[in-house]
Amino acid sequence: MEMTPEQLAAIKKQFVNLKERSPFYAKKFEGIDLSDIQTQADFEKLPFSEKADLRDAYPLGLAAVPPEKIVRIHSSSGTTGTPVIIPYTQKDVDDWATMFARCYEYAGVTPEDRVHITPGYGLWTAGIGFQLGCEKLGAMAIPMGPGNTDKQLKMMEDLQSTVLCGTSSYALLLAEEIEKRGIRDKLALKKGIIGSERWGEKMRKRIGEELGIELYDIYGLTEIYGPGIGINCKADSAMHIWNDFVYVEVIDPETGELVPDGESGEIVLTTLQKEGAPLIRFRTHDLSRIVPGECSCGSKHPRIDIITGRTDDMVKVKGVNMFPAQVEEIIAFTDGASSEYQVMIDHLDGKDIMTVFFETEATGEECTRIEENMRLLFKGKLGMSPNPKGVPIGYLPRSEKKTKRIFDNRY
Ligand code: ZN
Repeated sequence: MEMTPEQLAAIKKQFVNLKERSPFYAKKFEGIDLSDIQTQADFEKLPFSEKADLRDAYPLGLAAVPPEKIVRIHSSSGTTGTPVIIPYTQKDVDDWATMFARCYEYAGVTPEDRVHITPGYGLWTAGIGFQLGCEKLGAMAIPMGPGNTDKQLKMMEDLQSTVLCGTSSYALLLAEEIEKRGIRDKLALKKGIIGSERWGEKMRKRIGEELGIELYDIYGLTEIYGPGIGINCKADSAMHIWNDFVYVEVIDPETGELVPDGESGEIVLTTLQKEGAPLIRFRTHDLSRIVPGECSCGSKHPRIDIITGRTDDMVKVKGVNMFPAQVEEIIAFTDGASSEYQVMIDHLDGKDIMTVFFETEATGEECTRIEENMRLLFKGKLGMSPNPKGVPIGYLPRSEKKTKRIFDNRY
């Protein structure tokens, strides 16, 4: 994607004294004179940053401001021990609120709305980001955090929440519970803003239909502010990214080369305004693509498609590379299969065995027919045959946080 003159100017401004302000970048850009970066082509020669680099800077090595300018930290957990700590200045917090309020506006949320926030609060950026944006917009924040379904539903009813914020799996859990209790007509829900988890079209449809609400995908990651750097609009499912704060590139995750607009690859982000911990060419490991052309809504903010997976989610089964999104797509294509699934990969007698558990209302022969159809779809689309296995609705686990769906038991 072409860098705008404003973006290039913001990057150059950020580079002034960056190496003096930040020991992290002094090391990262050793031997590079940042005043030589004058064009987009120059910028594209800079090395990427990785989550591992950020982890090495633990605890506060990422700070590019003196300690007294830091007003807050957030942290991404990471599965491998040492967390990443991101310092924020007051301007960073304000900018994040501005971006998040814009997300709510794109979703049609107004100061009249009552926003039910179920993501967690604390070191994690999610809950507090939803809250910041809500207050900046002037809507009423209901800071629930996750868990305690009884209390969630009581507050949702008593306070007449109109917007539900959460992960897709928690939204589904609440949707099912609302259906089970038959209380939908006592609630005032109109919209759902769903973040921090990749979710398939079928799950989206189910949540949307069961609750009868409009759904929006919000994008972001702790390393770059948190959720709220982009959201889809009413016109389309692709997400507008706030290009006054973030510059987007898409690369081939294997070679690191930029791919043409429209082609899938790994999202790489550069912050344009961030003071506490600027990030330059940060590899997100999120897979998506830039959607070329302008959106019919008229917004000039560029778009990326919904996230289809993570580069590190790729699994190789029977010699075939596979992403969770592809599995999800096949399940969505299979008539009679619901959106919930779980994949188990094992190695037995020298062979990979993949079992796909999916929820279905069907039983007996009908269930067997659905299993066989799914197996044929896998064969046709991925060139490999798993063992699909239908299970009753509600059989597979739902979680308040991210749902793990692919279990590789081979190693
Ligand atoms: Zn749009």
